[in-house]
Amino acid sequence: MKCNKFKSSEATIHVANVGEFCLDCHNNFMAELIGINKTSDFSKIISVYDVEGIVHEFEISNMIIPGFSVWKAEEMESAYQFEVLTKPEENQADAIQKLHEKILTGLGYKTLAHMSDNYFVNNAIRISKEGYSLNSVGTCRIEHAEEENTFSLVIDGKNISLHDFGQALTAFEGFNMDFQIRDLSDEVLGKDMVLAQVVINPDVIIEHFERTLGWFLERDFLSYKRASACVEALVERVDELELLYKYGSLDKAAQVGEIMKRRLISIDNDTDDFPEYLLNMIDQVIGIA
Ligand SMILES: [Zn+2]
Repeated sequence: MKCNKFKSSEATIHVANVGEFCLDCHNNFMAELIGINKTSDFSKIISVYDVEGIVHEFEISNMIIPGFSVWKAEEMESAYQFEVLTKPEENQADAIQKLHEKILTGLGYKTLAHMSDNYFVNNAIRISKEGYSLNSVGTCRIEHAEEENTFSLVIDGKNISLHDFGQALTAFEGFNMDFQIRDLSDEVLGKDMVLAQVVINPDVIIEHFERTLGWFLERDFLSYKRASACVEALVERVDELELLYKYGSLDKAAQVGEIMKRRLISIDNDTDDFPEYLLNMIDQVIGIA
């Protein structure tokens, strides 16, 4: 089907009661609806070197939907994908910058380890005659081709069947594998990173929050001299709140967020802006802002 605005483009987006559009016309329509200027001044194709010095080419695209602006980087030859979500009214250059950083981080390490040709290992993953084993820390994207009902994992930009993945896992027989499914727009794993266990019990989060505050307050007063260090330390506590929101209960996260905000507002201080930044951040985490 052709785009309703420019008949030369293929329509990829259907807007109920409005019509069929290509991505460009869809974004123009949305930008006008929301009342923002569409960002079209960005590199549509970028090349990034991975940790082994191999170049990967990405196509960058943006899609505006009510409440969100989605920035995507899709590898053209292989299957790497990265995504950043922002709000349409926020600075889109920051989101593009974040997307670039994410690609660099994601390409800065490998989940698959290339095996030497000198010996044959029967649980290796074979990709174009090369053998690979799994590192003990890694990432894969879950792919499901609904029409053919096939599924696979994309690891290091390569499609790996579940059978091959399972076979490679046998190298770790008897070990535990923890897992955590995360949105494509979440932070990515990079070099020198592991997943750590974090407690997201509401009482524990509040206890950590109070303990961190305790390092900076003097009789419940925050001096401007210590304010920026205090905010920096508390951002980590807000990160815990975000994990509660994502993996625990929305209601409990909202309650903990309100408790944090009330506590922050109650702190006497001699700064110009404490605790505005943290209040905004909490609202964003619990979905109010
Ligand atoms: Zn169009």
